[in-house]
Amino acid sequence: MIPRTVPLRQAQGWRAEMARAYTDVHRLLCDLQIDPATLPALRAAEAGFPLRVPYGYAARMRRGDANDPLLRQVLALAVEDIPQPGFAIDAVGDLAAMPVPGLLHKYHGRALLIATGACAVHCRNCVRRHFPYGEAHAKAGQWRAALDYIAADTSIAEVILSGGDPLMLDDAVLAPLITALDAIPHLRRLRIHTRLPIVLPQRIDAELLTWLSATRLGRVVVVHANHAHEIDAGVRSALSAMRAVGATVLNQAVLLGGVNDDAGVLCNLSEALFDAGVLPYYLHRLDAVHGAAHYAVPEARAQQLLGTLRARLPGYLVPRLVREVAGAAAKLPVG
Ligand SMILES: *Cc1c(COP(=O)(O)O)cnc(C)c1O
Ligand code: SF4
Repeated sequence: MIPRTVPLRQAQGWRAEMARAYTDVHRLLCDLQIDPATLPALRAAEAGFPLRVPYGYAARMRRGDANDPLLRQVLALAVEDIPQPGFAIDAVGDLAAMPVPGLLHKYHGRALLIATGACAVHCRNCVRRHFPYGEAHAKAGQWRAALDYIAADTSIAEVILSGGDPLMLDDAVLAPLITALDAIPHLRRLRIHTRLPIVLPQRIDAELLTWLSATRLGRVVVVHANHAHEIDAGVRSALSAMRAVGATVLNQAVLLGGVNDDAGVLCNLSEALFDAGVLPYYLHRLDAVHGAAHYAVPEARAQQLLGTLRARLPGYLVPRLVREVAGAAAKLPVG
């Protein structure tokens, strides 16, 4: 007999892992054997959107390498605070597209629920760093207005759980939400946008897999990996566990200067994803968000990279290069 305490212990497992995350850049650099003097100036620790890096994610960074592509995604640099023309706070028009608190309805047939403002990792390029998700998201368990809105609009076939990272919520919060969505007859699909299977694969535990397998809705999990080095054995087993309960697993990446703006790196990412049972979905152009200008890749370079991917990879391993434009009816293709 499987003792009742097993899932509980596992739930504690990912929370305990979360609590071990690095929040102090000097401790992270010390463990990585990197001398801060070899890096550009760091951001003051007390500024908003602080450093946050799960321990297991940092373990995949190369020791002694100041240019490590995983480190570069999370390292808070002083240059972020210098305003750059064209880089704004609300880069994608989210604040204008919210019919009820916590719900974005920008595109036909899909409604996006901001389930929480929290993330396990703080990606420096992220638009979420300025959006007031802390206040905007529906309070955990208080989804009534959002659920009523979805139930009243029969054109909505798919609900997307996003954030922040929706899998930061406890299963005791998520399971009843899924049950409530399940009961809305016109819904066909549940999509979850999450970086947790990549940065904290312990999150994909028995309790999560229980509610993920229990719904009648078609399930799509869109994970977020930007570099093949992010995908290790623990990540592969989390991804295959979700596939084993019937979820389609896709990846979205962001094209980031100094991280993955290289054809070889992007090919390796697609190959590593396929090996893990995941197909590439989107490669996003950087959102022009304040603090992220140092990751910008010129449009001509992005198109050139895409051309090289098309020449080197089977079509199904080439992600769609897209950009989000405020007011547009969909993400717009680039090239
Ligand atoms: C990106 C996004 C979606 C999903 O778009 P797809 O092209 O279907 O992946 C839905 N709603 C909002 C608000 C979005 O930003
Ligand atoms: S929303 Fe996603 S990309 Fe943004 S900080 Fe959170 S995990 Fe990173």
